[in-house]
Amino acid sequence: MSDIRKDRLHDHYVLIAPERMRKPDTLGNTAVGEPIDDCPFCEGHEGMTPPEIYAIRSNEANAMHWSVRVIPNLYKAVQIELDNHSDIDGMFESRLGLGAHEIVIDTPQHDGRLSTMKVTQISDWLQAISERISDLKADKRLIYASVFKNHGTSSGATQFHPHTQIIALPVMPQSLLKRLERGLQYYRRHGRSRLEDILVNELKAEVRIVSKKGTFTAFCPFASSYPFEVMIASTSESTSLYKLNRDDIGHLASLIQEVFQRLEAELGNFNYNLAFDMAPLNSNFENEPFMPQLEKYYRMNIRIMPRIYRLGGFELSTGIFINPVAPEEAAKLLRETKI
Ligand SMILES: [Zn+2]
Repeated sequence: MSDIRKDRLHDHYVLIAPERMRKPDTLGNTAVGEPIDDCPFCEGHEGMTPPEIYAIRSNEANAMHWSVRVIPNLYKAVQIELDNHSDIDGMFESRLGLGAHEIVIDTPQHDGRLSTMKVTQISDWLQAISERISDLKADKRLIYASVFKNHGTSSGATQFHPHTQIIALPVMPQSLLKRLERGLQYYRRHGRSRLEDILVNELKAEVRIVSKKGTFTAFCPFASSYPFEVMIASTSESTSLYKLNRDDIGHLASLIQEVFQRLEAELGNFNYNLAFDMAPLNSNFENEPFMPQLEKYYRMNIRIMPRIYRLGGFELSTGIFINPVAPEEAAKLLRETKI
């Protein structure tokens, strides 16, 4: 049983999840790229996972011949079958770890990567995430979903087989709440979204652009926290993945593949975290003031954060990152590299 606790000093939430302690670390003793007989995410091993929640497949559920599968996480940080009950005792505010924790198995291929996966496979992966987000949104207790990928040991990954995690929570991350507030203020002042203006300025400056496909642009953000950080954003209005049409998904998939091919050409098979920044699922007392005009001022984006250097005390204590590679230099290398 997990607990969602409010840190009153730093003004953020913490998930206390003892279940996670039992999670096996399979990366420690596995050679990179070597398929392992007991990998629960490989095709043919469907019986080793809990029954699937969703799949894109040409066969019956929980059998072979699939392109993407979504399953509940066995070592979940939160669980769905709980009441949304909170408890405040003086300075100690907590609630039961209500939520959903799902694993999207990106591809049947054990050593698949976003650089080597076909565009149709990446489209299926995006489609699966999109379907899950719109389904989780139907549960009004769930307020926010974090969608992320960890690749490689220094990113926090414990399973080699390519996968993405979805953690849906009954609370808003405080950092996102602040961004919504500032985004709405900016919109009221300028009549545009902040990300839209950033993108327009990046497109004009050109120096940090990596590539473009359809309405999507990949660029190294002006104030990148990580060396070779890449953000993918769209010039069209879309707050979440499930709002994209088939063409958008195709362009996005193709751009993701290209960006990873360029990053790998420069960095090899690098460790990274990837996060989808998307609108909250539902309204609650915290985000309610910012929800009505969300479509106008909020834009989804994807952030790719290569984990080349380890974070130290300065980053953890201040939230200020030290990035040794100028984003202009990173973008130039990525643009000009041969793929
Ligand atoms: Zn596998």
